[in-house]
Amino acid sequence: PLSRARSHHFFNRGRKIFPSGVTRVTVERQPVPVYIARGEGAYVLDVDGNRFLDLNNNFTTLIHGHGFLPVADAVADLLHRGTCFSNPTEHEIDLAELLAERIPAIEHVRFVNSGTEAVMFAIKAARAFTGRTGIVRVEGAYHGAYDWAEAGQASSPTRWGDGSRPNAIPAYRGTPPSVADDVAVIRFNDVEGIERRMADVGARTACVLIDPMPSRAGLIEPKADFLQALQAAAHKHGVLLVADEVLNLRQSYRGASARYGLEPDLIACGKIIGGGFPVGAVGGRANVMSVFANDKGKPLLPQGGTFSANPVSMVAGRVAMEAMTEEAFHGLERLGDNVRSGLQNAIDRTGAPFSVSGAASLFRIHPKKQAPSDYRSGYPTQAENDINTALSDYFLHRGILLPNGAAACLSTAMTAYDADAVVTTFSDFLSTPAAQEFE
Ligand code: PMP
Repeated sequence: PLSRARSHHFFNRGRKIFPSGVTRVTVERQPVPVYIARGEGAYVLDVDGNRFLDLNNNFTTLIHGHGFLPVADAVADLLHRGTCFSNPTEHEIDLAELLAERIPAIEHVRFVNSGTEAVMFAIKAARAFTGRTGIVRVEGAYHGAYDWAEAGQASSPTRWGDGSRPNAIPAYRGTPPSVADDVAVIRFNDVEGIERRMADVGARTACVLIDPMPSRAGLIEPKADFLQALQAAAHKHGVLLVADEVLNLRQSYRGASARYGLEPDLIACGKIIGGGFPVGAVGGRANVMSVFANDKGKPLLPQGGTFSANPVSMVAGRVAMEAMTEEAFHGLERLGDNVRSGLQNAIDRTGAPFSVSGAASLFRIHPKKQAPSDYRSGYPTQAENDINTALSDYFLHRGILLPNGAAACLSTAMTAYDADAVVTTFSDFLSTPAAQEFE
């Protein structure tokens, strides 16, 4: 059995000072969160001495796993020379040039501190550029905590509304109703749904916000004609296309939009481009990004931020990204292909009611026989939620941290041995009584 005495101890302390005992809803876990003492490559060690293969990597951030030496060395070097200044540094230019060289959507870029902030500034930039207020977004996709990026997180199926016209639901009590008035929701991969929605709201819409493979909406591959229709509708109605690649930039050397043939006007990045430190970036076409510029006097959209472009994140991000060569992306994708096909083989062998989705270094296991096609069809029943929890608990007891109902990811620190461990553990899970009773 897993020893958790010290995690219990820390949770008892945490409960006295933090609502829910922790400072991020995403780290909650029953009966206690796993408190980490240190990370080593693909593994983490918890405070009770348990060692886990980490399939979470701080929510897909750590593309090289933990304690990646080139980043650690570069940052250690920097720490003695100052970590933030009220002046620009060379480091921000280095990372910006690297991103612009690789990612077709980026001509100009601004750095911020999180994915939430990157999406927020992308939306604000689209609004400033078009002079319109509306947002069109995909049902169930997660885009961080900016009010307009959140509205549409339907937490209860009874409030989803008609599938051809999903409700925009304010994310929390007390959200100004006007937020929902400015948000229109479409369903992922619903090709006809786009023009139907845009015919209503196109003229007052600033941007369509699209994550090419939204993890919380199922981590499902986009249909080519869906993305084409989105792009065509955006052009037709004078609406900007904003790609949220905070998570999915890790899909390829040039990012996710490039992989799927999408040509966004603006792109929001985060996670991997900070090398394990807080970061966000909003980039895009130079003429759209000019809303941040002072060429004609005061910028349409002033953007600052005390820690924006801080040297630690910039250096760590540049070093981590430089190590992500095209070969490194290909290697990671092959490992991902092996994991996904291994999981699928285990399902096919047993006929278990599960399916697998994802691409590149990302995968998700669904307790659904039929792979979901969007957020609604992937939405778990109570029994499916319970089996998801049983699955991630089983993995935990076998020494693997598997995110529950979210994107699992690989890192360059992982080996074929680690990939085998994931597949074997899942295969063994399918023969447990809990899995056998689940139909
Ligand atoms: N957009 C997407 C697609 C994300 O996955 C996330 C974070 N998981 C965010 C935005 C928000 O990023 P952050 O947590 O850095 O604010």
